[in-house]
Amino acid sequence: MYICLSCKKEIEFDEIRDKIRCPYCGYKVIMKQRPKTITKVPAK
Ligand SMILES: [Zn+2]
Repeated sequence: MYICLSCKKEIEFDEIRDKIRCPYCGYKVIMKQRPKTITKVPAK
C-alpha cells in the first residue's frame, strides 16, 4: 500500500506497476505506508 503525497489517496501496488506514480493525479512522489508507522495521522 502506498499513499500519494499530493492527493493523499491510497494506491495499491498493482496499480503502480513498474512506474512509481500516482494513478489518480500523476504525482511522482508517493510514500510507502507501513502498518507499524501510522503515528502522524490524528484519529478523528
Ligand atoms: Zn495523487
